[in-house]
Amino acid sequence: MRIRLLVLVGLVAALPAHGARVLLHAGHLLDVSAGEFVAERTVVVEDGRIAAVEPGYRPGDPGEQVVDLSSAYVLPGLLDMHVHLDGELSPNRFVERFQLEPADRALRAVQYAERTLMAGFTTVRDLGTTDGIALSLRRAINEGRIKGPRIYAAGKSIATTGGHADPTNGVKSSLRGDPGPTEGVINSVEDARKAVRARYKEGADLIKITATGGVLSEAKSGDNPQFTVAEVEAIVAAARDYGYKVAAHAHGAEGMKRAVLGGVDSIEHGTYMTDEIMKLMKARGTWYVPTIIAGVYTAEKAKEPGYFSELVRPKAATIGAHIQATFGRAYKAGVKIAFGTDTGVSPHGDNWKEFVYMVEAGMPAMAALESATHGGAELLGMWDELGSIEVGKKADVIAVAADPVADIAAMGNVTFVMKEGVVYR
Ligand SMILES: [Zn+2]
Repeated sequence: MRIRLLVLVGLVAALPAHGARVLLHAGHLLDVSAGEFVAERTVVVEDGRIAAVEPGYRPGDPGEQVVDLSSAYVLPGLLDMHVHLDGELSPNRFVERFQLEPADRALRAVQYAERTLMAGFTTVRDLGTTDGIALSLRRAINEGRIKGPRIYAAGKSIATTGGHADPTNGVKSSLRGDPGPTEGVINSVEDARKAVRARYKEGADLIKITATGGVLSEAKSGDNPQFTVAEVEAIVAAARDYGYKVAAHAHGAEGMKRAVLGGVDSIEHGTYMTDEIMKLMKARGTWYVPTIIAGVYTAEKAKEPGYFSELVRPKAATIGAHIQATFGRAYKAGVKIAFGTDTGVSPHGDNWKEFVYMVEAGMPAMAALESATHGGAELLGMWDELGSIEVGKKADVIAVAADPVADIAAMGNVTFVMKEGVVYR
């Protein structure tokens, strides 16, 4: 680890001064708009942006640094639209809420953020954090203090009383209290507006709501509807005032439908998505962020005795297993897909495994890569800056050793990571 850190520091230190150019000799370069790898290109990086993409390998002039990626497959930095950087699932997850200080979890989050970046994910949406950890992480990364992806953070998820993301679920009555909009719990249209404004005040970049029950909360239902359409509409209307997009966690069909009708931008998980909802999403342009890996991972862990509480275990065993098949149907139906993993449920750095599950479910490898580049950038509203290696965009560039179209598992072997012109791996 120490050696690796020194190498990283060395690489960063070896970068040319402001204004100098880096030439990446790309053996195979992903042209996202054309949907294919093109051979032998020189990507010119200057001031953190793509300055040119030229045919062939241009030798560097004095003062230009050449990075040899001629045997690699070079792609834009990947975007994961659903992570939680402030934790990682473990059998101690619930009790640790009473044992760990926010600083303990923040320090772990530093490690998770670095793993995410080193796995080639240069941009993520953090869809729900506690104690503002993802927001502080975002600040430290932007200030160059620690290594991590570019973070778009939702701050505290917005739930209803007893709903998924009510922070006091499963806690004895003397400790429960009655959290309100500031803590991300609403029960009316007025509360909905205040909860969005409280996220603005805490510095969030977007809004996350939990439209149905969830697998990992200490509550009985994993899929019941938890907001009225009017409450969702109020959240979306307030969010628009601040330029925010709204992401909705949803497993069950009724809550999912209400979220789509209420105007959210993306459905997360989408487990029991019906044909009717797919049609609605297509008509309204709602994105689907599948998070198959979270379902697969929790269904596996549900087989280990004692891993989950007896309230959570049956939900993990039944709900998770459905997501992959739903994803396959949604893709065939033509619902817009943006790559997302719910990492923090599964281990940080394993985000790439989602690609394997997507391809298993019938999505071509190139379409899966598209969902993690163009798809994510479009959902963020950042396609003019992120998601492809084109002149003027931020220089987020990664490389893998083998052809991911021939074998999508190649995405698990990232050999090079550049974020905004700085080489991290
Ligand atoms: Zn999540």
